[in-house]
Amino acid sequence: MLNKKGLFVILGFLVIFAVTHFVFAPEQFSARLVGTTMLGGVAFLLMTTSIVLSTRLAVFEDWFGGLDRVYQVHKFTGVFSILFVFAHFIGVPKELPAGVDPTVHGLVPSAPLGMVSLVLLVLSLALALNRKISYSRWRPMHKLMGLVYLLVIGHFMTAPAIFFERFSASGYLLIGAAILGLLAFLYSVLGFNKRNKTRFKLETVNSLERATEIVLSPIDKSLAFKPGQFAFVEVQGKGWTEPHPFTISSAPSEDGLRFTLKVLGDWTRKVREELTPGGEVVVHGPYGRFDSTNARSRQVWLAGGIGITPFLSKIRAMNPGDEREITLVYAVRDRSEALFLSEIEEKAKELGNLKVVLLESGLGQFARVDIMKEKLSGSLDSYDYFLCGPKPMVKGLSKDLKAGNVPKNSIHTEAFEFR
Ligand SMILES: Cc1cc2nc3c(=O)[nH]c(=O)nc-3n(C[C@H](O)[C@H](O)[C@H](O)COP(=O)(O)OP(=O)(O)OC[C@H]3O[C@@H](n4cnc5c(N)ncnc54)[C@H](O)[C@@H]3O)c2cc1C
Repeated sequence: MLNKKGLFVILGFLVIFAVTHFVFAPEQFSARLVGTTMLGGVAFLLMTTSIVLSTRLAVFEDWFGGLDRVYQVHKFTGVFSILFVFAHFIGVPKELPAGVDPTVHGLVPSAPLGMVSLVLLVLSLALALNRKISYSRWRPMHKLMGLVYLLVIGHFMTAPAIFFERFSASGYLLIGAAILGLLAFLYSVLGFNKRNKTRFKLETVNSLERATEIVLSPIDKSLAFKPGQFAFVEVQGKGWTEPHPFTISSAPSEDGLRFTLKVLGDWTRKVREELTPGGEVVVHGPYGRFDSTNARSRQVWLAGGIGITPFLSKIRAMNPGDEREITLVYAVRDRSEALFLSEIEEKAKELGNLKVVLLESGLGQFARVDIMKEKLSGSLDSYDYFLCGPKPMVKGLSKDLKAGNVPKNSIHTEAFEFR
C-alpha cells in the first residue's frame, strides 16, 4: 500500500511554491502570466521530485512504503510534470512582459531552450510508455533526462518573467530546487544510490520449472534483511548488464541468500543458460516494506505464480509456536508451476498455523474474492491481506476486497515492476 506521508510532503512543497508565487508576484504581471509561470514552476518542482526520488534514500522508503512505491511516484511525478509543462507552454503569453527590453531578451535563449526541453520530454514519455523497448535499452536513454533537466533550468533562469524577478521568493524556491535536483542527479549518476553493496559467491544454480534458483554465500559479511524484502542482483563479469531486482526467498537466519528468478527476458534467460557456480555476485539492498510482522494476526498471503518469493522467505522464517493464523493462497496455472509447493506443504504440517490453498487456473480455479471467502473461517474484514503477483490479478483483488468492506490499510501489495 502506498503510504500517503510522502505524497503530503510533495503536495506541501507545491502549495508553498504556488502561494509564494501568487503572493509575491510583481504588480505589473498579468494574472495570466502569474498563473502560467506558476504552472511552469510546478512542472519543474515535479521534475525535481522525480530526480530526488531516484536517489533511493531510505527515508523515501519510509515516506512512501517501499522502494517499489518510490519508483511509482518517481514515474507519476515525471509524467505529471510533462502535463504541467504542456499547460505552461499553451497558456504562457508569447509577448514579452511589460518592462522587458526586447534587445536584451533577444540575447537570452529561454524560448529555444524551452522548446527543445518540451520536445525531449514528450519523446522520453513516448519511450517510457512503449513496452516494446526493452528495459535494458530504455534505461540508458532515461538517464539522459538529467540533461533535459539542465535545459529546463537554463529555460527558467533566462525566462523574462523569472530572469528579471528571480530574486523574488518563488524564484529563490526554484533556484533552491534546482540545486537540490542537480545534487540528486549527480548522486545517482555517480552510483551513490546503489548503497549497501554486499559481495557474495555463487554457490548453486538450480533449474526449476520455468524458473531458476540461485544460492549465494557471503564473501565478507552476510546481509541483514526482513522476510519480504528485495535486493538488486549484479552478476560480476563481462556481458552482464545492470543490476536486476529480486525478492530474497531465503529466511534471514540462513547462512546464505536465495533468489528465485522466473525466466522472462534476456537477463533471466542468461542466468539460466550461462551462469555457473564460483563467480562473484554483488547484492545491493535490502529494500522494500512488504512486512507482515505488524499486521493483524489473521492474515491471507496471496501469491500469483512467481509472486510466491516474498512468502517463501516469510514461511521459511516461521517457527512452531507462531500464534498468527495464516492462509496462503497460491494461484498458478497448474500444479507443476507451483514452485516449492512440497516444501511449503511440509512446513505447513510442521507449523499448524499455516493453511495452504492451491488454485489452478487450468482447472478453472481463479484467485477471486468469492473463492477466498469459502476458504476462510472468518469474515473477509477480519484479515490483513498481502498480495503479490501479476498486476491485473493484484489490482482486481484489491478492488474486490475493498468492495467487500476490507479497509484499504489492511490490503498490502508488492509490485514486481518499477517502470
Ligand atoms: C521489487 C521487485 C521484486 C521482484 N522480485 C522478483 C522475484 O522474486 N522473482 C522474479 O522472477 N522476478 C522478480 N521481479 C521481476 C524481475 O526484476 C524481472 O522479471 C527481471 O528483472 C526481468 O529481467 P529480464 O532482462 O530477464 O527481462 P526483460 O524482458 O528485460 O524485463 C522484463 C521486465 O522486468 C523489469 N526489469 C528488467 N530489468 C530491470 C532492471 N534492471 N531493474 C528493474 N526492473 C527491471 C521491467 O519491468 C521489464 O519490463 C521483481 C521486480 C521488482 C521490481
